[in-house]
Amino acid sequence: MGLIENGTRAQMRTGSKLARMKQKAAHLPIYVPAASAIARESAFQGTILVERLPRLVESLTSPDGTLDVELQLGSEMARPPFLRGHVRGNLRLQCQRCLEDFSWPLDAKVDLRLVENEADESRWLQDYEPYLLEDDRLPLHAIVEDEVLLALPLSPRCPTCERAEPLSIDAAGTA
Ligand SMILES: [Zn+2]
Repeated sequence: MGLIENGTRAQMRTGSKLARMKQKAAHLPIYVPAASAIARESAFQGTILVERLPRLVESLTSPDGTLDVELQLGSEMARPPFLRGHVRGNLRLQCQRCLEDFSWPLDAKVDLRLVENEADESRWLQDYEPYLLEDDRLPLHAIVEDEVLLALPLSPRCPTCERAEPLSIDAAGTA
């Protein structure tokens, strides 16, 4: 027990349940063994440096920053195992109106169902967001990167431009 230095605010907020299972401020593993992690209903908490996610970096104006990730595996009767959690952080985006670079607060939910073949993938597609496992590696970084890419705004606006021009539909003039 005692004070652990270097805990980030996000991790302190998470409470003890997840923190107990992983060291504070740990880097999130790139891969974990899928079958055993599912069987143990493992929880993962840690950080990923934005610069380690090349597909994401392509959409940003700067590779600086860190993502705080919490993920929980679990199973339910007659359904594929789930992977749920959150990804939080601040990303540098370019405002599409004034072209200035600004800090965008990311708070993305992860809620996936892990399936092992394409038949199951299409079977569960209607009710869930299936994730097809290609082998016994659960690629945590790649999954987080996918979810963050999906969460990015299509047309980013900095807070100033959002206030200045909340709705620009009438400017288009459809006549
Ligand atoms: Zn702007």
